[in-house]
Amino acid sequence: MPEGDTVYRAARLLDRSLSGKVLTRTDFRVPQHATADLSGATVRETVSRGKHLLTRIDGEEEWTLHTHLKMEGTWRVLERGRRWPRPAAQARVVLETDTRVAVGFSLGIVELVPRGREDELVGHLGPDLLGPGWDEAEALRRLREDPTRPLGEALLDQTRLAGIGNMYMAELCFVAGVHPRTPVGDVTGLPRLVRRAKQMLELNKERAVQSTTGDLRERQRMWVYRRDKSPCRRCGTPIRVAMAGPAGRERASYWCPSCQPERTAPEG
Ligand SMILES: [Zn+2]
Repeated sequence: MPEGDTVYRAARLLDRSLSGKVLTRTDFRVPQHATADLSGATVRETVSRGKHLLTRIDGEEEWTLHTHLKMEGTWRVLERGRRWPRPAAQARVVLETDTRVAVGFSLGIVELVPRGREDELVGHLGPDLLGPGWDEAEALRRLREDPTRPLGEALLDQTRLAGIGNMYMAELCFVAGVHPRTPVGDVTGLPRLVRRAKQMLELNKERAVQSTTGDLRERQRMWVYRRDKSPCRRCGTPIRVAMAGPAGRERASYWCPSCQPERTAPEG
């Protein structure tokens, strides 16, 4: 599951490669847009909003191509005629210019909508950790709206704040010393945690490998994420993993039982 910084990098790649360029060929390999053809149109820009990508394309009408990487998706930009890094059957969108081809593989969402409807695509999102209009107070307000909700679940809810996936959720709970199941209302230092979230994404948006520990060496980059059974970097206790979250949308949750003790709710 790509995190907000990964999506930000994908937006920048597309923006650098395509903005200002005329499309010489387009191919939308999804049923609802199979006949769409934007060749001759000019790509204006690509921006990220949380984990959503918006590619604005001006033809006879102003379009927005909305894509989402979901679990396995990726955008790649290649010199024209180069071999694609993934099987052609996985391609969902192909945007070609006179020199380059951008291919979106295994995308979770591919939608072409009139520009005026962009808000319907991303208007539900909370403040974007990497967006130009980042608003910490509003993110905190939204997180606190349901004080009984488990912190891990609230952090993953893109309508609270946008950009955090499973990896940052686990890492943030660890650095805050809070069990992911702790109700939001019981978390002291929530503002610091949110600031930390922004810091982590900001640091990692500029580099190809993600690290939350500050150490870029293989296997040293994470505190707890995907480290179940390995010793905690602070106290040596084996890291635990469990599935958590709303039914049908459970995700793996990682924590150190000693650094992030689960407080049992008082009786009654
Ligand atoms: Zn520990």
